[in-house]
Amino acid sequence: MIPRHSEARIQEMRPVGAFVASVLGALQSAAKPGVSLLELDALAHDMIRQAGATSCYIDYHPSFGGSPFGKVLCTSVNDAALHGLPHDYALQGGDLLSLDFAVNLGGWVADSAVSLIVGSPANPDDQRLIDVCEEALKAGIAAAVPGNRLGDISHAIGTVAKAHGFAVNADFGGHGVGRTMHEDPSIPNDGAPGHGPTLKPGMVFAIEPWLMHGTSEIYTDEDGWTLRSVDGSRAAHVEHTVVVTKNGPLVLTAR
Ligand code: MG
Repeated sequence: MIPRHSEARIQEMRPVGAFVASVLGALQSAAKPGVSLLELDALAHDMIRQAGATSCYIDYHPSFGGSPFGKVLCTSVNDAALHGLPHDYALQGGDLLSLDFAVNLGGWVADSAVSLIVGSPANPDDQRLIDVCEEALKAGIAAAVPGNRLGDISHAIGTVAKAHGFAVNADFGGHGVGRTMHEDPSIPNDGAPGHGPTLKPGMVFAIEPWLMHGTSEIYTDEDGWTLRSVDGSRAAHVEHTVVVTKNGPLVLTAR
């Protein structure tokens, strides 16, 4: 059962969406060569405290995590694709950094991610990887309209990825979001169109394509959290929290 929320409740979700967007914007500006992942996590933590928000990550301990996450931000660098556990690493020029961030503010959760190239030199292939993820996200969002089926979102994302020659990992993808970070449904980053539940106004989804240059396979780092590409190739990941409305998709985390 996919939760649906009234227009009044959707209005209540706007502040958390705007806050998540503002934190990711601040982190993007701060992510310069020489800055450590722990400093980025500390910056996000300061902003959480100032806003009176609650991290969705710090106590997070699902079956696939080695221990409670303990940080408020996912920092995935280069061959790290998802769930990058911040550690004592100073960013270098040309690193491909993905930042994933979710908090609860005022009783609602928003979840968003961005990928960027730190300083220079920027590898054009890395920029292309990011661009394709952004294009897939845009396509997935565009499919989040009443009357479409859930599989239409998955299909839109997968179609963009495959058109650019990328393989899709369907193990980790998007999800419903609302009172908590992970709600029904699960939204794989590829799938058959015209299948699954019918989308209706008031449904809220975190849509999050992620891609790697050379593979769709990942392994878990010995930190128990960070998911890395099996072939060492670089990864990108982008995400927005999106409401299905009768007027079309509403991106709560627009930056
Ligand atoms: Mg996220």
